[in-house]
Amino acid sequence: MEMHKFDVLIVGAGGAGLMAALHASKGTNTAVLSKLYPTRSHTGTALGGIGAALGNLEEDKWEWHAFDTIKGGDYLTDQDAAEILAREAIDAVIELEHFGLPFDRTEDGKISQRRFGGHTNNETGQPVRRACHAADRTGHMILQTLYQQCIKNNVNFFDEYHVIDLIMNDGRVAGVVAINIDRGDLHIFQGKAVVFATGGWGKCWEVTSNAHSLTGDGAAICFRRGIPLEDMEFYQFHPTGLYPTGFLITEGVRGEGGVLINGRGERFMERYAPKIKDLASRDVVSRAIYLELREGRGIKGKRYVYLDVTPDTVNRYLAEAGETRRIDVHFIETKLAETVDQSRTYAGIDPTREPMPIQPTAHYAMGGIPTNNDGCGIADAHNTIIPGLYAAGECACVSVHGANRLGTNSLVDLVVFGRRAGKHAVEFCKQADFVPLPADAGKEAEAEIERIRKANGKTRPAVLRQKMQQTMMDYVGVFRTEKDMRQAIETIREMKEAYRKDLTIDDRGSRFNTDLLEAWELGCQLDIAEVTAVSALARQESRGGHSREDFPKRDDVNWLKHTLACKDGDKITLDYKPVVITKYQPKERVY
Ligand SMILES: Cc1cc2nc3c(=O)[nH]c(=O)nc-3n(C[C@H](O)[C@H](O)[C@H](O)COP(=O)(O)OP(=O)(O)OC[C@H]3O[C@@H](n4cnc5c(N)ncnc54)[C@H](O)[C@@H]3O)c2cc1C
Repeated sequence: MEMHKFDVLIVGAGGAGLMAALHASKGTNTAVLSKLYPTRSHTGTALGGIGAALGNLEEDKWEWHAFDTIKGGDYLTDQDAAEILAREAIDAVIELEHFGLPFDRTEDGKISQRRFGGHTNNETGQPVRRACHAADRTGHMILQTLYQQCIKNNVNFFDEYHVIDLIMNDGRVAGVVAINIDRGDLHIFQGKAVVFATGGWGKCWEVTSNAHSLTGDGAAICFRRGIPLEDMEFYQFHPTGLYPTGFLITEGVRGEGGVLINGRGERFMERYAPKIKDLASRDVVSRAIYLELREGRGIKGKRYVYLDVTPDTVNRYLAEAGETRRIDVHFIETKLAETVDQSRTYAGIDPTREPMPIQPTAHYAMGGIPTNNDGCGIADAHNTIIPGLYAAGECACVSVHGANRLGTNSLVDLVVFGRRAGKHAVEFCKQADFVPLPADAGKEAEAEIERIRKANGKTRPAVLRQKMQQTMMDYVGVFRTEKDMRQAIETIREMKEAYRKDLTIDDRGSRFNTDLLEAWELGCQLDIAEVTAVSALARQESRGGHSREDFPKRDDVNWLKHTLACKDGDKITLDYKPVVITKYQPKERVY
């Protein structure tokens, strides 16, 4: 196997990976390994905006942003982390601006801001303009800007290198094993520090906004190496996925005035969140849509409702609310350019003239690899640091999003905690030596790849993948019960057995073997699906994205704590750690 040596190895080239790389490269020899070409990372599809209390259009304070994040997270958020997120968001957005990010502007030249779900003026309870945006291509602009900065800073890129294992020695991080996708050969990268920034795992569910590549590789790799996964039961369904694909329609549509309408023509969010209506937090809106559908109030009795941003409808509700603002077709076509384009292309619907059919779609992992506020990976409920391990972005759990993430807060998380991880890795490398590679480094990963390549059973990965996605959708989705989750765990375990003993693939070659790599990814998805279901079954309460029909109330006495799920042979053991509370005592959430 070819060997490489860098101080800092970053796995993943989305917003989190690139921000970490940029800051790590200021003091160390840094490499980024990515299975995708960097600018194809999912961050590039983020549409609506990045939250920061700049207060450019109306009064705002970072303390309000911190509180909204904690409340949105249904009080499972670690409050010290939320304070860092909200405070450092301001400076991080200005840093992006100085890197050249072309934000939309107000007439007097400031960064333009729009409304987003759950972001409020804490005194009036009304929505506040906090989301900074570049039309509805904010993630695309962040990714391009950071990539350019990384090139300028001489970051070493290994594009289309698929990382398949973490090398550890005596509890310390020594490096990673990767496949060069083009040639199919294995490489060992030795590093003092490894930063996982591999993104989420929406592809565990059938209807999802997530890209094909979001299979939870980094989290699964760490889990297999004995690192716990935190709060995996909390998975967010975004309320507005295009029906039937699940393709994301940004919350920015509601931020600009769009409303949700049921089969009776009612603006039903008035009943569920009288104060901020369609801009309640995502868990609240997704549940409301499901309840409407369950009551037979979908459009024409079908499994979707409407998201209506046509000028007539929006202007009628703006007038009703006593607002002077009015919108027209040109406004929608410029402020929501991508959404209009994608809806016309993928659904044949013109949102400037007709409402869009929407359904909730699997969107965002609140849980992941547990870290402290500097991105350092932690090993247990006592927050013991694993020397050299870092995680940032969607694959990490700081935990800043608690039980439910607010819109625009993922992009903030990437830049704020990506930057912190990168900076901390520099300090770590100054005092750390390279950990020696174990004699058998890479052998286990190689054996697993060869097992899949030669697998001679009867079950194709596509069949297992589809069954897993359907199982997760039906049994570990927006609403959950003990019976359903037990069923899900049983089915997933059967599928894992089939994956180990009865797999077959078509392509047995080495060059650009996506058949083989997708089969390997499926192994990660199955691990993630099982951990999610097991963590969810144990939590006997409803909180944020985890909604149990058999335990419909939040239970702070027994469950105000984070789950840590750990691999123990073929079993999963669960442990818990307290939530960090600074000054916001848990209250009932009212929107
Ligand atoms: C359609 C959509 C719209 C969104 N809109 C918004 C928004 O407006 N505001 C907001 O705050 N959030 C939004 N989000 C959420 C946000 O975009 C993501 O949570 C965030 O971009 C994740 O960034 P990341 O850097 O963690 O990972 P990603 O951007 O997903 O990148 C993951 C990287 O890891 C690499 N990788 C993965 N596995 C491996 C492996 N095994 N080996 C090597 N490399 C690997 C990939 O190549 C990729 O470079 C949106 C998400 C979606 C899906």
